[in-house]
Amino acid sequence: MSTTYLSNRINSLSESATLKMTKLGRELAAQGVNVISLSVGEPDFNTPDNVKEAAKKALDENYTRYSPVPGYPDLRQAIVNKLKTENNLDYDISQIVVSTGAKQSLSNVILTLVNPGDEVIIPTPYWVSYSEMVNLAEGKSVFINTDIESNFKITPEQLEAAITPKSKVFMFSSPCNPTGTVYSKDELEALAKVFEKYPNIFIISDEIYEHINFVDKHESIAQFETIKDRVIIVNGFSKAYAMTGWRLGYIAANKEIAAANDKLQGQTTSGTCSISQRAGIVAYNDGLESVNEMKEAFTRRRQLVYDLLTEIPGIKTNLPEGAFYFFPEVSAFFGKKDRNGNVINGSADLALYLLNFGHIATVGGDSFGNDNYIRLSYAASDENLIEALRRMKEALAILK
Ligand code: PMP
Ligand code: GLU
Repeated sequence: MSTTYLSNRINSLSESATLKMTKLGRELAAQGVNVISLSVGEPDFNTPDNVKEAAKKALDENYTRYSPVPGYPDLRQAIVNKLKTENNLDYDISQIVVSTGAKQSLSNVILTLVNPGDEVIIPTPYWVSYSEMVNLAEGKSVFINTDIESNFKITPEQLEAAITPKSKVFMFSSPCNPTGTVYSKDELEALAKVFEKYPNIFIISDEIYEHINFVDKHESIAQFETIKDRVIIVNGFSKAYAMTGWRLGYIAANKEIAAANDKLQGQTTSGTCSISQRAGIVAYNDGLESVNEMKEAFTRRRQLVYDLLTEIPGIKTNLPEGAFYFFPEVSAFFGKKDRNGNVINGSADLALYLLNFGHIATVGGDSFGNDNYIRLSYAASDENLIEALRRMKEALAILK
């Protein structure tokens, strides 16, 4: 959609594919169709009771007014403590800025660092919103392509080859949305060694899936002291504490970047929801019990989906190491026709076909920077996953 009176900025912005597919799934469900949603990346668990209680208490205690723009000091202190105890990283509260979700933090950081024409290096596949946030800042995304053969990981050589005098930011997620790829400490160290040679590049490390890691303990690229000052950790409460609707995220960065994010939020959103912040303090201070329960369920479902996916002819998948997504290769179905004679020309067509004929919502890989794949979220019940994969197998088998 392009409308003449809207700004060029908004006319050239793509709609978020994750949210679009979720919306289409909801619309179909509203017509009475039994749609299984594997599109949006959101834990299917409820927010833990202790966190909900903290929100109720916050209301009763009248935490209903504007909060400090970078967050309540005791929430920022809880984040500092978490970074120390869970990640062995030292930060001061002046380096923490709380926001309305990791999505806002990412956008803030890009607007804070990127001038028009600056290059932002992004390994593909990447989370849908990264490249569009760069567009909004009038930066230029430079992609490093990976595929299933390399487990969707970049090498230090690929990184170095992508760097130019205009490179300003490198941004990635580990565990990765949409591939589930997890970088090990050694792999991160090898990338850090490259960044040591280029002191003008900042690294946005999106760690929102840190607790959903099936292979090892979480490693942050901020642990390497030689580059730590240039790393911006982005994290939040959505995934770890099933708090997607509460809109609570944050950055940990050097003091200048933190102050700049504070200034930006001060002119755009102000401090995030006071009640969510009070609840966030309890989530962090009460420890990881509920997180670990969710991880157990994800571990079981990962194996379940892997077993079912590998039985579908034409699908190629790996076993993701983290997050709650599969990103299987589906190009074997391109060029085939559905029963109305429509040709499946790419991953977006395939996702629409699976929605309209199979009644399963997924997201085409094109929006994650690689058209040969689709993304399935397995943050759904075992029962729904079994039924969704059955429908998928059946719908794909019909394509001619
Ligand atoms: N980063 C990644 C990789 C994500 O998948 C998401 C989606 N939840 C976000 C950031 C944003 O999370 P939120 O705004 O809910 O904190
Ligand atoms: N991050 C989730 C996803 O990838 C939530 C939707 C969104 O914000 O894009 O599905």
